[in-house]
Amino acid sequence: MSSADTRRNVGARFRNGGGTVKGFVQRVHSPHPSLNDSLEGELQDFLTDEDQLHTYDDLTKVNPVTPTTVLKCLQARYSVKVFYTHAGCTLVALNPFQPIPDLYSLDVMKEYHCAPQPKEFKPHIFIVAEEAYRNVRGQLEPVNQSLVVSGESGAGKTWTSRCLMKYYATVAASSSVVKSQNTVERIERRVLDSNPIMEAFGNACTLRNNNSSRFGKYIQLQLDRCQLLVGASVQTYLLEKTRVACPPDNERNFHIFYQMMKGATDEQRKEWKMPRGQRFTWLPKSEKTLEEDCFHETVEAMVHLGINAERQRQIFRILAGILQLGNVNFSSSADESQLCNLDEQSKDFSQRAAELLCVPAEELQTCLRVRTLKAGKQSVLKPCPQAECSMRRDCLAKVIYAQLFEWLVTFINNSICADESMWCNFIGVLDVYGFECFHINNLEQLCINYANEKLQQHFVAHYLRAQQEEYVSEGLQWSFVKYQDNQSCLDLIEGSPVSVFSLLNEESRLNRVSDTKTFRTRLEKELCGNANISWDKFSKEPHFTVAHYAGKVNYQIQGMVEKNKDPVPPELISLLQKSDNPLLHQIFTDKETENPTNKGLSKVTVVSKFKNSLESLMRILHTTTPHYTRCIKPNPDCKPLTFQKEEVIMQLEACGIVETIHISAAGFPIRIPFKDFMQRYGLIEKYSNSMSGSCCVDVETDSNGILRQEVEKLLSVVLHKAFDLDSEKHNSWVHCGRTKVFLTQSMLDLLEDQRKKI
Ligand code: ATP
Ligand code: MG
Repeated sequence: MSSADTRRNVGARFRNGGGTVKGFVQRVHSPHPSLNDSLEGELQDFLTDEDQLHTYDDLTKVNPVTPTTVLKCLQARYSVKVFYTHAGCTLVALNPFQPIPDLYSLDVMKEYHCAPQPKEFKPHIFIVAEEAYRNVRGQLEPVNQSLVVSGESGAGKTWTSRCLMKYYATVAASSSVVKSQNTVERIERRVLDSNPIMEAFGNACTLRNNNSSRFGKYIQLQLDRCQLLVGASVQTYLLEKTRVACPPDNERNFHIFYQMMKGATDEQRKEWKMPRGQRFTWLPKSEKTLEEDCFHETVEAMVHLGINAERQRQIFRILAGILQLGNVNFSSSADESQLCNLDEQSKDFSQRAAELLCVPAEELQTCLRVRTLKAGKQSVLKPCPQAECSMRRDCLAKVIYAQLFEWLVTFINNSICADESMWCNFIGVLDVYGFECFHINNLEQLCINYANEKLQQHFVAHYLRAQQEEYVSEGLQWSFVKYQDNQSCLDLIEGSPVSVFSLLNEESRLNRVSDTKTFRTRLEKELCGNANISWDKFSKEPHFTVAHYAGKVNYQIQGMVEKNKDPVPPELISLLQKSDNPLLHQIFTDKETENPTNKGLSKVTVVSKFKNSLESLMRILHTTTPHYTRCIKPNPDCKPLTFQKEEVIMQLEACGIVETIHISAAGFPIRIPFKDFMQRYGLIEKYSNSMSGSCCVDVETDSNGILRQEVEKLLSVVLHKAFDLDSEKHNSWVHCGRTKVFLTQSMLDLLEDQRKKI
């Protein structure tokens, strides 16, 4: 990736939610009359007094809600170092790009945890955490929760996820201990220690973030009956393994390699064949050291999780072996029927790699340079051309690294996962890569953007559509907010019978020599007429353009089918199975035994695997109550306290915040069936009526129509008593539908207050 790889289209189609505003003095027509009416006084202040903008804790109170007003409000808050703002059902988190003293301290955690109404406190990620925690013990039955943290690279997703995990590790500490081998650890410590390990192996310094996660993660924090944290399990998605062998220009490889280089003792350097000053091709920018290059911390976390010294030794030898492989270069032989040449240095490096990977050196060199062709029962050996030798070398490194990462995740799970009988609910934290749009986009971006489409659909389904549909079915007046339903885009990507994925998989299966050309032809022919896809027929680089909910993205066709196949030459697997490194041997032998059809490492395409894992994630999410946090990166250079409007507005669009604000602002987030409502609050009226002489309705016997009248009467009494409000003004606080009553949070608080006074 080059510095020119910046986001382009995102936000280009940014819509203006409620009309145009020039500054704040011009009152414009809002599509949400109830909001305007309700906030008349407040609105007036707001429209005339920009100095007060920073005080708006919830963007739904900004009126009119337009991208401009929302942006100004966020900017005003940022300038006074307020980083969290509600947006109705979503929390917006602006990245300060500098440590904020005491914002996440133990005392602050306690404050939010112990507050009777945390939402009355300043917006904070701990409100989301606490709300989810309290929701687990739902009113009727316990409900699992999901905290979905999204945003673009560098926005603060991983930081936020860590904050959430620390919060639960503190307020829900069970202090139960786990014993393994020589270690005895508290479970909370172990759960937190999974972070530095996964970040060391799965994060890297990129142009956009010094600690960029190159994989997606969903961690389920397991709670027992007393809501104490007793374990956790992690699921990871799509590790960017190409980085191991091809770190992009001006970016780094995974942190763990630099940690080893920096933190190794002399003895370890000797063992890993890494003398001081040794350069490794696959470790660009190695002179730049970061906070993340803390080998000691990773090793300590490994010890806490029960990875013993011998296992650690095996892991680091494998990693050192990968680095040596990167320094092996091939040169073409004059005669094509001969093996490619290895110069003396490359021979040395391949020798060292073989020793570290514990495989026979000769065999390693052969595997990298010779292809075995099967012709019936016969095998024919064919020397590979130079480019293919390099590809086989890279492939070896990638497959080893990816499998090692997978093994680590399994190990971590075995180490932190509680026995099924011990836990009954979970809070899941999802930290996934945000929407991506570079100059050149490939299969990885297609998968990432597909995941974001899925999450957006979940978000839309959960909050927006459900909310609107219920209004309609309840007969409430509702000025529809236009939201983008992205089902057609999802159909284009993953649908059947024909979609980008189906064509990609078919071409991968057919294994044709000219797959790029046929894939392109089939895309154009079989998906022509689909409004979500387009082509520039005159472009030199064949590509297709997908209209995502967050903007248009061009995907390069060249190499996509090959990437999807992700082939691993079988000779390489056989070689690794022969390794005397017990871990390497185990990783590759287990894989084959798990998949007797030999589908494990080579035959399942990248998109099929990704789609399956995403679908299982979506199934889990659908069974939970979601809470959304949208992290925003206020400037592209990660500068402290610097707010760039264009950057922020693009991101607000990409995550659909403006639509959310519209709906939440005009919405009534609390709905209670009439009967339940009267059961809970009927006494308020009775109490009031006992003074005025009338009597309360018998909620068990009355029909819905009468119940509705009673509910309306009760609400009248409460609102009149509290504010002297006449009935026309009620509809900003409350609406009665066909079967239930719809309330704002403030109305609910008011009713609760009245109820307490009885
Ligand atoms: P990626 O998608 O690349 O993994 P990300 O969204 O996970 O990006 P983070 O790694 O969480 O981004 O954040 C980037 C950097 O921003 C952090 O390393 C940290 O320096 C800073 N940062 C994020 N959130 C905060 C915060 N709340 N307070 C202080 N600094 C923060
Ligand atoms: Mg991250």
